[in-house]
Amino acid sequence: MVGAAALLVILSCRTTPMRVIHTVQAGETVYRIARYYGVGLDTVIRANRVRDVTNVAVGQKLWIPQARKPPASRPIPLEVSWSRRVSHDVSARPETDLAFAWPVRGRISSGFGRRRGRHHDGIDIPARRGTWIRAAEAGRVIHVGAVGDYGKVVIIKHSGVFKTVYAHNRVNRVRKGAFVEKGDVIAEVGATGNARGSHLHFELRRGARAQDPLLYLR
Ligand SMILES: [Zn+2]
Repeated sequence: MVGAAALLVILSCRTTPMRVIHTVQAGETVYRIARYYGVGLDTVIRANRVRDVTNVAVGQKLWIPQARKPPASRPIPLEVSWSRRVSHDVSARPETDLAFAWPVRGRISSGFGRRRGRHHDGIDIPARRGTWIRAAEAGRVIHVGAVGDYGKVVIIKHSGVFKTVYAHNRVNRVRKGAFVEKGDVIAEVGATGNARGSHLHFELRRGARAQDPLLYLR
């Protein structure tokens, strides 16, 4: 059902904001698509009744109300939020070849960014106690243990400057120094440390800086 290239239809006029139908391309995420068009993630979710942002199919058509850009003619690349020059060049190369997978499937109860006057360095994904937490990408386990508010935590170092952090775990199931493949079970969801209800707190760090994981997860 995917047409040649990105088949994108402008439904109304060319003045902004415009209404656009976007056909999901391989590697795109709802979050990235929303960012590209300059609309809120919630807007896209509501307009399309998306139940699970982690599960949109290639070829699926998404209605983008209030789009600030005409339809993308190529797959929307990962756009780097920390970059000074925010690239709108859709042919720009992604910053990394790593493809991070969701460590636990589910909705996000708390996103990255400002939260109650503080900065939330990751995303929270509620899940039942004992749900398997999987490595988002291959790498080497550089920390396993308990760290204050994080409770039981696993940190994986990936190629380049990326690290992922998995916190509030009930049990950690890897040893420090181990090499893990993407998708390997590394821990179980819990509520250790400062956690209200069992959930995974997941961070993605580039060097020391926390990044919004939604920019990378696919
Ligand atoms: Zn959190």
